[in-house]
Amino acid sequence: MAQLRSPSEEKSVIRIIGQGLAGSTLGLLLHDLGYKVFIYDNGYKTSSSRIAAGMWNPLSFVNLKRSWMADQLLSEMERTYTRLEELLGVSFFHPMPLLRIFPDAGSANLWEEKSLHPEVQPYIDSLEIPNVDEHFHQPFGSGFVKGAGWLNIRLYLESTRAFFSSKNAFEEREIQAEEILAWLAQGDLVVQCSGWKPMPNNFWSDVPVHTNKGQVLTLQLNGLTSEYISNFGKFLIPLGNDLYRAGSTYEHGALDLLPSEVAKEIEDDVAKSVKHSFSIVDHKSGFRPTTIDRQPILGMHDQHPGLGIFNGLGSRGVMLAPFFAKHFITHLTEDSPVMKEVHWKRFRERRNKS
Ligand SMILES: Cc1cc2nc3c(=O)[nH]c(=O)nc-3n(C[C@H](O)[C@H](O)[C@H](O)COP(=O)(O)OP(=O)(O)OC[C@H]3O[C@@H](n4cnc5c(N)ncnc54)[C@H](O)[C@@H]3O)c2cc1C
Repeated sequence: MAQLRSPSEEKSVIRIIGQGLAGSTLGLLLHDLGYKVFIYDNGYKTSSSRIAAGMWNPLSFVNLKRSWMADQLLSEMERTYTRLEELLGVSFFHPMPLLRIFPDAGSANLWEEKSLHPEVQPYIDSLEIPNVDEHFHQPFGSGFVKGAGWLNIRLYLESTRAFFSSKNAFEEREIQAEEILAWLAQGDLVVQCSGWKPMPNNFWSDVPVHTNKGQVLTLQLNGLTSEYISNFGKFLIPLGNDLYRAGSTYEHGALDLLPSEVAKEIEDDVAKSVKHSFSIVDHKSGFRPTTIDRQPILGMHDQHPGLGIFNGLGSRGVMLAPFFAKHFITHLTEDSPVMKEVHWKRFRERRNKS
C-alpha cells in the first residue's frame, strides 16, 4: 500500500529535516502537489548546499563520457527548477554553455577521439567560439559543451525558507532522534535530508555517508567574458558584476571544515589559464555528502515505516535532486519501487554478501 494517500485525503504532516538541496526540492515538490509539509533546519550549520558552486555538466571530463542518467536528470532538472522559479517568484536557474579548455594534449586528443561518439556528441557544440584567445591561454585548444549551467543555490535556499516561513511551515532548530520518534508515533511522515553529519542515535547506521571536503573561491575578475562557464581543470562561473565562483577542490579524509591552503591550487590554475588579473573576495569550504558508489540514497526505514531518507547527493546535487525527489514522491504516493542503485538497502545487501 502507498505511504501517502491523495493530498485531499492525507491526514499526516510530512516533516523534512534539513533544508539543503535535498530537503528544499523534496519539500517544495510535495507542497506543490498539495501535501502538508513542515521543514526544519538548524541554521545551515553543516550545510553543503550553502557552500556549493551550483554548476551542472552532462559530461564527465575524466574520460569524456556522458554522466550517469544525464538525459533523464537534465530534463527533470529543467522542468522542476523552472516550475519552482514560478512558485517562488525568483530566478535562480541559469542554463549556460560551458567552454572546456583542454589542460593538456591528452584531453585534446580524447575530445577529438570521442566528441563524435553518439554518447557524447549530443552535448558537444560545434560553434566557433569568439575571442577565447582574448581571455584564456589555450595551448591545447578548447571546445564547447551544451546542456550545462549553474543554479544560484543560495538564492534557491533563501527563497524556499522564506516561502515555508510565510506559511508557518519552517522552523530553525536542531532536531533530535527523540522528537522524530514522537512524530512517528503520532502518524507523521518524517524524511531526513540532513546531509553529511549523522545525528546522535542515528537511525541509519547501515547507511555509510562519507565526507569529501571541497573549497571554492569568489573572485573579482575584470574584463573576462560572462557569456559562458569555463573549465580548465578548475572552473569559473560568472555570477554577474565581475564576480566569478572558482572551484573546486576534492579532499578525501579531511577532518576539519575550515578553509585552508589547499585552495591555492584553484588560484594557481586560474592564474595559469586566465589572461586577466583577479583578487579573492571570498573563500569557503564544506563537506559533500558522498557514498562509496557515488549514487544517492533514498527509501523508507524497515523498522520505522514512517521514516525516510534522502541523502548522498555527492558532487552532483544540482542535477540529482529534482529527479530523485520526484522518484521518492512516486514511491510514496504510488508505491512504485525505489531504484535498487539508489535504495539505502544496497549497503546492507553488500555487507551481508561480503
Ligand atoms: C565546495 C563544494 C562545491 C560544490 N559544488 C557543487 C556544484 O558545483 N554542483 C553540484 O551539483 N554540487 C556541488 N557540491 C555538492 C552539493 O553541495 C551537495 O550535493 C548538496 O548540497 C547536498 O545537499 P543536501 O541537501 O543533501 O545536504 P546539505 O546541503 O548539507 O543540507 C542538509 C541540511 O540539514 C541540516 N541539518 C543536519 N542535521 C540536522 C538536524 N539534526 N536538525 C536540523 N537540521 C539539520 C544541515 O545544517 C543542512 O543545512 C559542492 C559541494 C562543496 C562542498
